Amino acid sequence: MNFSHSAKTQGLMKQVRDFLENEILPAEPAWLEEVGNDDPNWQEWKAPATMEALKAKARSAGLWNLFLPESDFGAGLSNVEYAPLAEIMGTTLIASEVFNCSAPDTGNMEVLVKYGNQAQQDRWLMPLLDGRTRSVFFMTEPGVASSDATNMEATATLKGDEIILNGRKWWSTGVGHPNCEFGIFMGVTDPNAPRHAQHSMVIVPMNTPGVTIKRMLPVFNLYDKPSGHGEVWFENVVLPRENIIAGPGRGFEIAQGRLGPGRIHHCMRCIGAAELALRLMCERSTQRVAFGKPLALLGGNGDIIANARINIDMARLLTMKAAYLMDTVGVKGAMSEISQIKVVAPQLSLDIIDQAIQMHGGAGVSNDFPLASMYAQQRTLRLADGPDEVHRRQIAKIELKKYLKK
Ligand SMILES: Cc1cc2nc3c(=O)[nH]c(=O)nc-3n(C[C@H](O)[C@H](O)[C@H](O)COP(=O)(O)OP(=O)(O)OC[C@H]3O[C@@H](n4cnc5c(N)ncnc54)[C@H](O)[C@@H]3O)c2cc1C
Repeated sequence: MNFSHSAKTQGLMKQVRDFLENEILPAEPAWLEEVGNDDPNWQEWKAPATMEALKAKARSAGLWNLFLPESDFGAGLSNVEYAPLAEIMGTTLIASEVFNCSAPDTGNMEVLVKYGNQAQQDRWLMPLLDGRTRSVFFMTEPGVASSDATNMEATATLKGDEIILNGRKWWSTGVGHPNCEFGIFMGVTDPNAPRHAQHSMVIVPMNTPGVTIKRMLPVFNLYDKPSGHGEVWFENVVLPRENIIAGPGRGFEIAQGRLGPGRIHHCMRCIGAAELALRLMCERSTQRVAFGKPLALLGGNGDIIANARINIDMARLLTMKAAYLMDTVGVKGAMSEISQIKVVAPQLSLDIIDQAIQMHGGAGVSNDFPLASMYAQQRTLRLADGPDEVHRRQIAKIELKKYLKK
């Protein structure tokens, strides 16, 4: 297994790191200022000019769409090559958006690159690749346990040349962004088809009659402006049949392809966040003194720091293994590893952020350090993209297959 950094990756890592230090970190306070205080009135949310300016700079520096392995559309990097860049991006809250590498747009772009037809790519993919628009992914539903995606009740019904959407979705991340122009909706088209061939994915422009954003859901009491997480109702939303991606009944097949690379991105960003938390913990605990010693030398703090280093390095190696397998044998051959990292990385970053908060004392939960908002963000990753238990179930299934009789 070889996942050492190529010369190309090393060059990009330096460029991304330099851009982060010279452009993004100095602009972050202005971005925070512009986003402003928490506010559920999403109709009034604005796209921060600081972000748009940073995006323009990143694009002209060639640091754009780095996540896309298809060189016709993006940087043409493999998962192994992109993973360390995602880790660097994970050390700030806004970097992945600056480089046009943020969810859910990344997953939606991947879907449109792989499964979209020419007209869908021209109309919906190109503006996303340009960073002019944002998008949303409508899968989770308030009425059913969505950990099991086959529970989905929303419908995408074919009628002549049209497809009609009905149902309620929630946790629709990005739907509050003023530049969010469309979503990819998943719903049941043929309830009599085999379990994984019932659903379709459909492109739904946000201004279609019958699409209503009912509310934004707060996460730990914050609305994640300006993207937000919405509850959205679909009531007899009529769209041309051409809006179906790849064809009726192919929703699960597309979802499978969509989730693999996204999990590498998420997990490497978690590792970046864990690295930042460890750095902050070391800086604080070596500078502050109690009972006559630096905090780092009190009680079990040295062990906490050592364990953080061990766990970060283990999680990174596991994630790189998953990336390597995806590059060499594909998503199907990397199923167990993809689930393993999705359990390990968010839990690891959460633990280290929690320990860093503790070592900062009261300052750790204030806004003087990014730890509190990092904690809230990382906590959601143990649910988003499937809760830990569902991934463990998948790992166990693959493991037990070797032993259980059919
Ligand atoms: C911040 C955030 C952003 C999100 N963004 C999006 C988005 O953009 N688009 C989208 O479609 N969805 C999104 N989601 C939704 C997310 O994917 C779902 O919340 C997740 O899949 C779980 O579904 P559920 O909430 O219905 O939980 P449920 O299915 O009700 O599960 C609840 C709990 O049951 C337990 N459980 C479930 N299955 C098992 C099992 N097999 N074994 C043991 N215990 C089990 C787990 O503890 C689980 O957390 C987002 C969620 C959050 C929090």
